[in-house]
Amino acid sequence: MPAAAAQPVPPPPLRYQRCGWCAAADFLPRALCRLCGSDDLAWEESAGSGYVHHAVAAPRADRRPGQHAVVVALDEGFHLPGVVVGAAARPVPVDARVRIVSVPGAGRRRPVFRLVRP
Ligand SMILES: [Zn+2]
Repeated sequence: MPAAAAQPVPPPPLRYQRCGWCAAADFLPRALCRLCGSDDLAWEESAGSGYVHHAVAAPRADRRPGQHAVVVALDEGFHLPGVVVGAAARPVPVDARVRIVSVPGAGRRRPVFRLVRP
């Protein structure tokens, strides 16, 4: 019997808080909404898709080749610093669509994104 092909494992959910009063979204856990001060905050799961809001042109010495520091604007309305992998060795284009492949945790400080075709 042939071995089953390995199935890609989806990343764990990327969670964020949404304000029930003003609908603001925020990745950082807070007791009060950063915009309106409401304590009506609920956790939601992001779909993990967004676009490059800001790209850092100069690579840091401790960053592995092929990783690009970016700030991603998630479709749910919050921003998140992370890295993009699999892109050409140049600044990642601003407004490029990305999808998350790895969330923070388990020794990883920043989420990892990959470019997606438009
Ligand atoms: Zn609010």
